[in-house]
Amino acid sequence: MAGDFILAGVMGWPIAQSRSPILHNYWIEKYKLNGRYVPLAVKPENLGDAIRGLRGLGFRGCNLTMPHKQMAMAMVDRVTDTAKRVGAVNCIVVEPDGEMWGTNNDGKGWYLSLLEVAPSWKPADGPIAILGAGGAARGLLVTLIENGAKEIRLINRTFEKAEKLAKDIDPSIVKPITWEKRADVIGDVALLTNSTDQGFVGKPALDISLDKLPKQALVSDLIYTPPETPFLAAARARGNVTVNGLGMLLHQARPAFEAWFGVMPEITPDLRAAIMATFK
Ligand code: NAP
Repeated sequence: MAGDFILAGVMGWPIAQSRSPILHNYWIEKYKLNGRYVPLAVKPENLGDAIRGLRGLGFRGCNLTMPHKQMAMAMVDRVTDTAKRVGAVNCIVVEPDGEMWGTNNDGKGWYLSLLEVAPSWKPADGPIAILGAGGAARGLLVTLIENGAKEIRLINRTFEKAEKLAKDIDPSIVKPITWEKRADVIGDVALLTNSTDQGFVGKPALDISLDKLPKQALVSDLIYTPPETPFLAAARARGNVTVNGLGMLLHQARPAFEAWFGVMPEITPDLRAAIMATFK
């Protein structure tokens, strides 16, 4: 079996919470492939050794999750333009000749998850507000701009981080906003997204009033644990269309799976149910 057996995995610290092994192994079984996708608990100080070890261990590649996405940039042979713009990689591919390259599918995965729910929505439809200016927000900004966004309000608790990110990405489109103004700058937006960790299981709910938000605005939360955060529940209750973070996870995984296993996998209701069953 050894020659044909395809190995991939996900490196993170901690890693037990990741649903990626369930997702990729579901597809491996569905498409009757000979391989396995494994969780890899890698401490930050061991990341270089772990990435170099992919080649020696015969891995076809891996995903990277918190806290490794930025650090891994310098540990591969090359990165895609998207990864460069984002400043982080979430996927490494090891070519048959041993070359390792990194890319970032997070932003595109999120964008596709929005289109799944609102197929006619476009980033140029109106102003966009993003709460949070961490690693995930970077990917969102790059994808939104690549797809035509004209104005993005970047709202963050630590204003300096929003300022820096706006400057890094494109200050003519990304406008930093203070946390105090968060409820006042959403009155005309076409999309409101939570990319903070507020509302995640065990954390407080995101603290924002939605009173001024237009009812036709699309509302997204990158979190999918729980499947509906208090923020999304409040938006849905007042009539907004909402999207949780599960679609982002699923859509970023498809091109990675194709690069490693040679099959572009499908997102089906059964797959969603299999992932959601792990939260019960
Ligand atoms: P991160 O880099 O650690 O950034 C966290 C963000 O949350 C920062 O903007 C931080 O603001 C903000 N924040 C933390 N505590 C806050 C508070 N009490 N009030 C207001 N803001 C607060 O994390 P990340 O990698 O960007 O991830 C953000 C979220 O996206 C997480 O919940 C993660 O699970 C989710 N995510 C989902 C997917 C998916 O596939 N669905 C993929 C990636 C990430 P400061 O700058 O002020 O600290």
